[in-house]
Amino acid sequence: MKNSGTKKPPAPKIIPRAAHTVSRKEISNSALKVLYRLHKSGYQAFLVGGCVRDAMLDLHPKDFDVATDATPEEVRALFDNCRLIGRRFRLAHIRFGREIIEVATFRAAAVHAADDVAHDDEGRIIRDNVYGSIWEDVWRRDFTCNALYYNIADFSIWDYVDGVRDVERRRLVLIGDPDQRLREDPVRMLRAVRFAAKLDFTIDDSVVEAMHKHAELLSNVPAARLFDEFLKLFQAGAAEKTFHLLREYQLFGQMFPATDHELNEDPAFAEFVVAALRNTDRRVAAGKSVTPMFLIGVFLWAPVKRLAVIRRAEESMSESQSLSLAAYELAAQQQRLISIPRRFTVPMREMLALQPRFLQTRGKRAHNLLEHRRFRAAYDFMLLLSEVGQFDPELAEFWTRVQSQPAPQRADSFQVSAPRRGTRRRRKRRTKPAQSP
Ligand code: ATP
Ligand code: MG
Repeated sequence: MKNSGTKKPPAPKIIPRAAHTVSRKEISNSALKVLYRLHKSGYQAFLVGGCVRDAMLDLHPKDFDVATDATPEEVRALFDNCRLIGRRFRLAHIRFGREIIEVATFRAAAVHAADDVAHDDEGRIIRDNVYGSIWEDVWRRDFTCNALYYNIADFSIWDYVDGVRDVERRRLVLIGDPDQRLREDPVRMLRAVRFAAKLDFTIDDSVVEAMHKHAELLSNVPAARLFDEFLKLFQAGAAEKTFHLLREYQLFGQMFPATDHELNEDPAFAEFVVAALRNTDRRVAAGKSVTPMFLIGVFLWAPVKRLAVIRRAEESMSESQSLSLAAYELAAQQQRLISIPRRFTVPMREMLALQPRFLQTRGKRAHNLLEHRRFRAAYDFMLLLSEVGQFDPELAEFWTRVQSQPAPQRADSFQVSAPRRGTRRRRKRRTKPAQSP
């Protein structure tokens, strides 16, 4: 399918309600309200993208994107709870409590709307801001499975690119020429891996071939965008599988070169990384919180240790100091590719620098470690190391045990005298009268 303004618009395959599995029960009430109101006002209104794909796969979609022929201003006129966002391309966000339904006006992909094409030297799109029709909107989507349109008018699915077939055979196929589509936006390579891991799809050979050619284009992607993508890759519950695929397609090294280098050198480090990813997936599955700083610390651990040894040979400093310095340098290096916010790199450094302190279990300094604001993360990190045989399990056991001990017994464990609690209470009493009127 190619469209060039003058030709007759192509016709989609229309799959009637009775012939597909997307049920309205899978669609949020807010999304349905938006679709129905647009439709009643005389506009076309479709659900599109991941939500249609996921609903077909029985994956209970949570995000709903709407596509329409109404302009953003026309959408805003219909909804009180609507805000227009975006400068280059305006989108309508319609808010229902905590849920936001994103409504986008059909737009022509720059590549195929010949008059408005603008590419940079690498072929990336630098301008794509023309409203279009639904058959043009299809072309700005990445994979065929992401280009299915669910029509609220009769609950049918409109399919211009054989997306339904590709969902059924669980295949990721790029719309159009794979080389061109990856050059336009190299992040699509990461998206291919993410969807393959999350949906258990196979990346089509045509895409794999193009990925081999263009992996290094990832280095042109803005660092802020790569950080967003990093979160989606590793915090969506399929981190381990994602990691293996990224390595298989030589994409991981584009994102984390120092880590990739150590992974190739040291199987024990690879084992630690995989254990951490598995642990992350377990936490996500259990609904527990995950923080990117932990995985970034895991990824940088071997490079940090290696650099710390060098820094210590150059200048006298404690092991902790050398780890902190090395973590600082590696985080800075990593940030040139992926802009990891400081609120993650700072605790990450602290977590790594605390590791040698788990070796010491006697005395006040060891005892105080329990009170350190980064103790919890550092402890989890150490526990993971011990799980893969890279930290003494008896020491790990000690640190687990002392956490549940009452203060006096704990003081005994560390062989320190007066429990700290007593001193604290006395201090509090002394300050109190001064504060009260
Ligand atoms: P999920 O939300 O499960 O990660 P999704 O398919 O909804 O998957 P989004 O990033 O939410 O992914 O994007 C919504 C839709 O926008 C996609 O389905 C796709 O059609 C289109 N899209 C998003 N990013 C790109 C891109 N980089 N290139 C082309 N199309 C894209
Ligand atoms: Mg989505």
